[in-house]
Amino acid sequence: MLTQAKEKLHTHFGYTQFRTGQQDIMDYLFKGESTLGIMPTGGGKSVCYQIPSLLLDGVTIVISPLISLMKDQVDELSGLGISATFINSSLPYDEVQTRIAGIRQGDYQLVYVAPERLESPGFAAVFEQLPIALIAVDEAHCLSQWGHDFRPSYLRIPELINRLFQRPPILALTATATPEVAQDITTILGIPSSNRVQTGFERDNLSFHVLKGVDNDRYIKDYLVRNPSASGIIYAATRKEVERIYARLLKQDIRVGRYHGGMNADQRRDFQEQFVYDQLQVMVATNAFGMGINKSNVRFIIHAQMPRNIESYYQEAGRSGRDGEPSECMLLFDAQDIRIQQFLIDQSDMDDTRKKQEFKKLQSMINYCHTEGCLQEYILQYFGEKQTTPCGKCSECADDRSIADVTKDAQMVLSCIHRMGERFGKTMVAQVLVGSKNRKMSEMNFDTLSTYGLMKGKGQKDVIQFIDYLVASQILRLDGGGYPVLKLTERCLPILKGESKVFRKEARAPKEMSQEDPLF
Ligand code: ADP
Ligand code: ZN
Repeated sequence: MLTQAKEKLHTHFGYTQFRTGQQDIMDYLFKGESTLGIMPTGGGKSVCYQIPSLLLDGVTIVISPLISLMKDQVDELSGLGISATFINSSLPYDEVQTRIAGIRQGDYQLVYVAPERLESPGFAAVFEQLPIALIAVDEAHCLSQWGHDFRPSYLRIPELINRLFQRPPILALTATATPEVAQDITTILGIPSSNRVQTGFERDNLSFHVLKGVDNDRYIKDYLVRNPSASGIIYAATRKEVERIYARLLKQDIRVGRYHGGMNADQRRDFQEQFVYDQLQVMVATNAFGMGINKSNVRFIIHAQMPRNIESYYQEAGRSGRDGEPSECMLLFDAQDIRIQQFLIDQSDMDDTRKKQEFKKLQSMINYCHTEGCLQEYILQYFGEKQTTPCGKCSECADDRSIADVTKDAQMVLSCIHRMGERFGKTMVAQVLVGSKNRKMSEMNFDTLSTYGLMKGKGQKDVIQFIDYLVASQILRLDGGGYPVLKLTERCLPILKGESKVFRKEARAPKEMSQEDPLF
């Protein structure tokens, strides 16, 4: 069967070699076994069900939340000589009926279905008596409550599977799955947990950068001056901020579009099309933009504000460089943005367990901004990859400051947190350490602690940054949501005893700071 699959890859798609993972996935499917495929965006997931649909008996059902993409995909497949159709809410009733009749007659090899369809009781019946070749579940992380894009209608998929008179192999596909999410997917869809094909998450043409303390407007302006023809997306956390950046860029004569949930569907579609067809250089958007956008030459992604978790960040950043050419992903970090994300979680209608989980994920995002290790490695390890090497080109790898032993400073911070009973946040701890004259110090009797004023002479801001670093290095842990409290971890005792050392890059000299702006 694999030889035939390779033939189809050549005749229908014009490619000569399978990419990493594609063959392993099809191996399982041709044996009749279900499998979970985790491949990065642009890795070539679609071929993994499109080719089997040509070789296996019956129709292949593809469940996908990307309604706006279905038509394009189906048109593209028809162009490649593959008969396909789609069914979603954009179609009038009569058209749906015609297509269903076509499915029953065996007119199609592939049928794309929006998950919402599965909620209507009659719909699954269409497939009940038909031979089904394969069920492909695209964006399978939508099945998991731990995922960043949970969709309840996805939970209807097992019902559909159970109604079929013969269980076909299931192929779950996603680009972002932490180990917990992967576990959820396999359990819910009944995929043997060993049937997992995971190709590296690494996108080695992307370089990641975290920039702190830059003036966002100035940075964006300068970046566009330096890269006048590069196409890119600027992500902001709120609609208001999107509008603000958009208006500024318009004034600077940038060919810019905007996209957020507050605009009507026509406006959004117009901007999106103009961007995809290179009539616009830059799109300013909230996270509403991008799911399923097929544009391969995006050269940069600037996050004007920190997103809510690493999953979202990697997915958004990963929209650059799908053509394999070098692309840049910049995150402009400002501690204020943490508040926005905390607020958004707090205000949401999630239950408390879920909120706690979201706060934990947000903390991993914050840690990314404070880490002094390779950014690419940080992301890969977050997704559970064990063997990683520094990328050599992210802003941390490129930062060649020398490394200093900061064990003594760390000991001061740790013992101060201990003396304060692990009940306070970083600002309060920093105030005690620098010996602040703040009224609270005497009110709470902090000024009688042996650690009070231990780091006198250092700035409170520097001490807070150092604490952030200790959290990012997972020496300390932050507990709780809106006002997180510093807790010691098991790594603290060896440090306090002097058995384990802490290292950090030397502080940046003030002069070096201004060099961060490449125009000067
Ligand atoms: P994903 O769904 O994983 O984001 P796609 O399925 O859209 O990725 O594939 C990304 C691109 O890679 C497409 O243009 C596709 O035609 C191409 N592609 C897929 N498989 C191969 C292959 N074996 N060799 C070369 N290009 C491929
Ligand atoms: Zn790196």
